[in-house]
Amino acid sequence: MHAFHYRNGRLHCEEADLVQVAETHGTPLYVYSARTVRDHYRRLDQALGDLDHLICYAVKANSNRAILRLLVEQGAGFDIVSGGELYRVIAAGGDPARCTFAGVGKSREEIEYALAEGVFCFNVESEAELDYINRIAAAKGVRAPIALRVNPDVEAGAHKYVSTGRSENKFGIALDRVAAVYEAAARMSGIRIRGVQMHIGSQITDAQPFADAIAKVAPLVRAFRERYAIEFLSIGGGMGIVYESSFESGRRDWWEPSTSGEAPHALTIDEYAAATLPALRALGVRILLEPGRLLVGNAGILLTRVRYLKQAEQKKFVIVDAGMNDLIRPALYQSYHEIVPVIEPAGSNRERVDVVGPVCESGDFFAQDRELTELHEGELAAIMSAGAYGFVMASNYNSRPLPAEVLVDGARVGLVRERQTYADLVRGEHDF
Ligand SMILES: *Cc1c(COP(=O)(O)O)cnc(C)c1O
Repeated sequence: MHAFHYRNGRLHCEEADLVQVAETHGTPLYVYSARTVRDHYRRLDQALGDLDHLICYAVKANSNRAILRLLVEQGAGFDIVSGGELYRVIAAGGDPARCTFAGVGKSREEIEYALAEGVFCFNVESEAELDYINRIAAAKGVRAPIALRVNPDVEAGAHKYVSTGRSENKFGIALDRVAAVYEAAARMSGIRIRGVQMHIGSQITDAQPFADAIAKVAPLVRAFRERYAIEFLSIGGGMGIVYESSFESGRRDWWEPSTSGEAPHALTIDEYAAATLPALRALGVRILLEPGRLLVGNAGILLTRVRYLKQAEQKKFVIVDAGMNDLIRPALYQSYHEIVPVIEPAGSNRERVDVVGPVCESGDFFAQDRELTELHEGELAAIMSAGAYGFVMASNYNSRPLPAEVLVDGARVGLVRERQTYADLVRGEHDF
């Protein structure tokens, strides 16, 4: 899906000219492509074919109501990790009965809220949590639907902060413990066993870890299908996307990985399906998937304007108006985002620079020692692949108002979240 491309010398999102969008809505500004979100959802849905499945979009990747609404219209379910996310899904018109509730530290209020709304399933991460949910549900005279999150202990994930399926991670219940916990769950009056869940990590660009994890939990699923009549296996999310194409160095279309081999290999939806489908079909239960990044990551960019250029002794800095408070991924995960000028460069003047924000932290950078097309004061640049784990992690650090968000669908451009004002910064604060 080619949502971002140069046309008439300017970067467009679908049919929308990003120079105009920036003039109307200001910068820093998140811009999302509706067609890309729909396209990615449909491609995954189609790749799974006639397999009995439900795609539960991981809301934490991008929880803007308009994005959720798009996915509601596609028929998606949702994977939520908090009461707040459940509230957002409902506000977007989503059905709680298609929501799975994950997370290692659910509170009493969240469990009661999710029970009252009738979520599809609680994905339980520890014996203590199982016990707690049981007591809350039993006191209300209901049974909470649950799946245990199994930790299959496989190596996956691009960075140690996003690997979740190893035995040393805080997530899930170890394979050799899980049968005993299911047995305990079966005896609880406030619990109804409904499925098995796993999620091995994020930004995984190789199909093998997914296949390995499925192979490890498959015997459990078979045993539990007989013993507890479980209905589903959720294989989690974690499918990686292309962050580094050759767009930055002059290709004119974004997203499709380069074919010449200079960009790292990306996991395609078809490879993912080919590696997992045979084993999944053989299980004979419904399959849930929880993709976040795959659906929205390459559907969004962060538009920013160059404020100053600064030539230091060793380095040249391009100081932009977006900061780590708007997009923290480079600071948090050392992650890579391509940066391209919005006005298509005429020549090929390139220079080695650091692209940094205005926040008072040395970690406030978007690129370090990177060869980029020359950028000048006042020019617009696009920080690519910012649709997932972008705005959702934004903060008011340095008392910077949260950026606005815009959704593009064809030629239509809609403001889907207003830029915060200074008044918003002090709202809710009190003198003492
Ligand atoms: C974060 C998360 C996901 C989504 O991960 P992506 O890498 O964005 O696909 C899915 N399931 C669970 C349990 C998660 O915590």
